[in-house]
Amino acid sequence: MSASQCRFCHAPLQHTFADLGMSPISNAFLKPTQLNLKEPFYPLHAYVCGTCLLVQLEEFESPEAIFNDDYAYFSSFSDTWLKHARDYVDEMVERFGYSGSSLVVEIASNDGYLLQYFVARRIPVLGVEPAANVAEAARKKGVDTLVKFFGVNTAKELAATRGKADLLLGNNVLAHVPDLNDFVAGMKILLKPDGVITMEFPHLLRLMQQNQFDTIYHEHFSYFSLLTVEKVFAHHGLMLFDIQQLPTHGGSLRIFARHAGHVGQVSGAVPALLAEERAAGLERISTYSAFAEKVRVTKRKLLRFLIDAKEAGKSVVGYGAPAKGNTLLNYCGVRSDFIDYTVDRSPHKQGMFLPGTHIPIHEPERIFRTRPDYVLILPWNIKDEIIEQMSAVRSWGGKFVVPVPEVTVMA
Ligand SMILES: [Zn+2]
Repeated sequence: MSASQCRFCHAPLQHTFADLGMSPISNAFLKPTQLNLKEPFYPLHAYVCGTCLLVQLEEFESPEAIFNDDYAYFSSFSDTWLKHARDYVDEMVERFGYSGSSLVVEIASNDGYLLQYFVARRIPVLGVEPAANVAEAARKKGVDTLVKFFGVNTAKELAATRGKADLLLGNNVLAHVPDLNDFVAGMKILLKPDGVITMEFPHLLRLMQQNQFDTIYHEHFSYFSLLTVEKVFAHHGLMLFDIQQLPTHGGSLRIFARHAGHVGQVSGAVPALLAEERAAGLERISTYSAFAEKVRVTKRKLLRFLIDAKEAGKSVVGYGAPAKGNTLLNYCGVRSDFIDYTVDRSPHKQGMFLPGTHIPIHEPERIFRTRPDYVLILPWNIKDEIIEQMSAVRSWGGKFVVPVPEVTVMA
């Protein structure tokens, strides 16, 4: 049993969802000079609240320690993600008719990967981003960006100085918020009376169905079903009026919300997905408890594959250095004894080492020089993009492997 309380309803957390042992913070990449230093590990243990059924990690570290200036993730290094952002902007402008007199605010706007497409249409934007180095990259793209954590205080300040938002969006931020109630209350404050909120986050139902336990990492505090996110928004006077199911991150939800009491249609997609979640057992604790064993089976299968490959004299390298890869490799105890190195397109990660496992990160071209037998794709959510970029691997008989939902050598 944890000593923590639910970050939404404050009930004590008693039920385990997945216990992944001790792990370093997944974005704590190491420089060569740091390899011999002490490295902090924290429990990576997800609980489900017995009262409101929110799946969550207990609090263990301040957000400032997680999102420091070395935060290495720049959204603009994934082609798939940039296309996703551009399509979203096109769709929102068409559906809600934003113009030069609108204000679009993105929370956790990263390097301006999305707002740049509103800027290109001359629609006023403001990004709110806690990581100073990525915010600086956004400003260089002409995306006005405030370096701050979002919550009630930031919302009040922005409402007074910049005005309220017609569109308030956040992609993959809701799950990363330590103080969930303060964050959602802040959105309520910053939203115009007829404004629209959209939020994207990995969908818990898909995480469970597809065995995506590696998407559990320390920066990712909450794991939402539609059932729980609707409860959280309703508590803060916001109502969901539409949802879209997206393929990103292995299955994400995009929710559309507005002030409760606002007149207007609610899409039939909302009650339909709520019914699907109930049918899948997401209102019962036993459904969550069953997930823990599924995780242990996956670990054994991955280790069996790696042991067999090494005993057959095969070489294995990784592709990518995403947070989910660090969860997987640390949980499974896979180090450079199994995986010679990994590669990443981001120059900010090249020359660094993965936290915990100390696997070196090189540039992708290294794979063409060393010609490994297997390339283990860590960001399996963009495996099609990677297999296409790296198709030359097949010229020497190299094979791609994905670890989730279970270890699979790609045909
Ligand atoms: Zn709760």
